[in-house]
Amino acid sequence: AAHKETHGFQTEVKQLLHLMIHSLYSNKEIFLRELVSNAADAADKLRFRALENDSLYENDGELNVKISVDKDANTITIADNGIGMTRDEVIANLGTIAKSGTKDFFSKLSGDNAKDSQLIGQFGVGFYSAFIVADKVTVRTRAAGADAAEGIEWTSEGEGEFTIAEINRPSRGTEIVLHLREDETEFADTWRLRSIVSKYSDHISIPVQMWKDEVPESEGPDGEKVPAQPGEWEVVNKATALWTREKSDITEDEYKEFYKHISHDFADPLAWAHNKVEGKTEYTSLLYIPSKAPFDMWNREQNHGLKLYVQRVFIMDDAEQFMPTYLRFVKGLLDSNDLPLNVSREILQDNKITQALRQGCTKRVLQMLEKMAKNDAEKYQTFWNEFGNALKEGPAEDFSNREKIAGLLRFSSTHGDSDAQTVSLADYIERMKEGQDKIYYVTADSLQAAKSSPHLEIFRKKGIEVLLMGERIDEWLMSHLTEFNEKQFESIAKANLDLGDLEDEETKKAKEEAEKEVEGILERAKTALGDKVGDVKFTHRLTDSPACIVADDSGMTTQMMKLMQAAGQ
Ligand code: ADP
Ligand code: MG
Repeated sequence: AAHKETHGFQTEVKQLLHLMIHSLYSNKEIFLRELVSNAADAADKLRFRALENDSLYENDGELNVKISVDKDANTITIADNGIGMTRDEVIANLGTIAKSGTKDFFSKLSGDNAKDSQLIGQFGVGFYSAFIVADKVTVRTRAAGADAAEGIEWTSEGEGEFTIAEINRPSRGTEIVLHLREDETEFADTWRLRSIVSKYSDHISIPVQMWKDEVPESEGPDGEKVPAQPGEWEVVNKATALWTREKSDITEDEYKEFYKHISHDFADPLAWAHNKVEGKTEYTSLLYIPSKAPFDMWNREQNHGLKLYVQRVFIMDDAEQFMPTYLRFVKGLLDSNDLPLNVSREILQDNKITQALRQGCTKRVLQMLEKMAKNDAEKYQTFWNEFGNALKEGPAEDFSNREKIAGLLRFSSTHGDSDAQTVSLADYIERMKEGQDKIYYVTADSLQAAKSSPHLEIFRKKGIEVLLMGERIDEWLMSHLTEFNEKQFESIAKANLDLGDLEDEETKKAKEEAEKEVEGILERAKTALGDKVGDVKFTHRLTDSPACIVADDSGMTTQMMKLMQAAGQ
């Protein structure tokens, strides 16, 4: 190589490398999964770009990954003929971490390897996992369509820096050479690598090939001549796109590994749904619910959406048009038979087929969640704790599925002592008192504040359950949720709260008498408070507190007013 330049890694890369080497020792073999996964992505990207420009194939359209071992040199080489990288891409992709939420993630690390190793699993390791087993990595690459002279060689020992040099590279694509650490030589073994591929990468849709050594001529048991076998590349994976296979032929582990490949997540998914739809619109969807919310889940601008394929050809990542925002945590893919191959984000934006696909996928996710809630309450609780607040955006965003979404919500309530959000609206309705026809709730700045609301006193006394809401999003949710199962929602902070049939004659009389006893006090309070308040009224809803402030009946609760004030309105 001619001119060599040295570059420093981004700080986070250094931290990641350090952490990885010290914490992933029990799971070293995943480096191969990550590198094969990248090779498959590179093939997808090339196929997509070649739709418009066939010459990018350079007369080599059979995309594959080749894995070979050099025992003497103690190296493993993973080579693909995918899209390759330009110089700038190499520096950006193999010198920094482009993943959103990276800064946040690293600020959470404690410096304690044992603790941090749990976190690294959630973050994902990608290309840098090569350094788990290698103390030197060489990448040679050339972008599809570029001249042979525009090849790039990247090398690093995984410490603070890497070097970049220009090389001549006639073949397109990327080759990664791992110089194995002294104590990792066990990986320089074809059989070992083969079993790792079948464990993690069977679902990869391009062929993963391994070199089978030549067998010299030999003698059979009866002294006959067994002819020599030449060495050859042998395909070691299934090499069919997983989602095109029959559900019954796909194992749980394959689904899980496929999830890790497309989501770049490191942990197993919580649930998935794989569906082939035929008829007016034809498509296959494979949708996953992750087990953990990503670090930037609450940034509504984060990349989300599905991986889009058209007739098995990869088109784009993060096609957000197919998932409503409140389901932005869903990962997966959609393979459409109806969209044109040259579909763009602009075309997707305003398209009948897009709408049908979006409705279909939304329905699948809601069904998957309903099923989980019904069959595995514990798992559903895990889901709810991670993603519940996103789902609460649903009733406002997705009018047509409002009732379904409402059925999936979970709340804290005055029933039981736990603060956990475990009560469904169906549970609530089942426990409603005779004569009760409303679902009562209270919203506040925090769960603690909701729990100590003076408005609760009368409900406690009468043994009527109230849903307790203390999250910022709850007020927004309740302004879009008016009823469930034909039962109206009612904020207990409303002034003219009508307890209806829950009130009996005797209490009504007692109330009137009590009001007579303190005649005149209303007038005095009104004069004292002036126009600071709209009105002063008697209430019988308080049992311990002398007074409380309520919103008028125009609809806005005090909590909503606070929200609007905070927003500067
Ligand atoms: P991720 O796959 O999650 O994007 P990685 O760390 O695995 O993260 O890879 C970083 C980036 O490096 C990829 O997004 C891709 O742009 C580039 N890259 C890695 N391996 C290859 C490859 N074999 N061919 C082309 N680009 C690659
Ligand atoms: Mg990757």
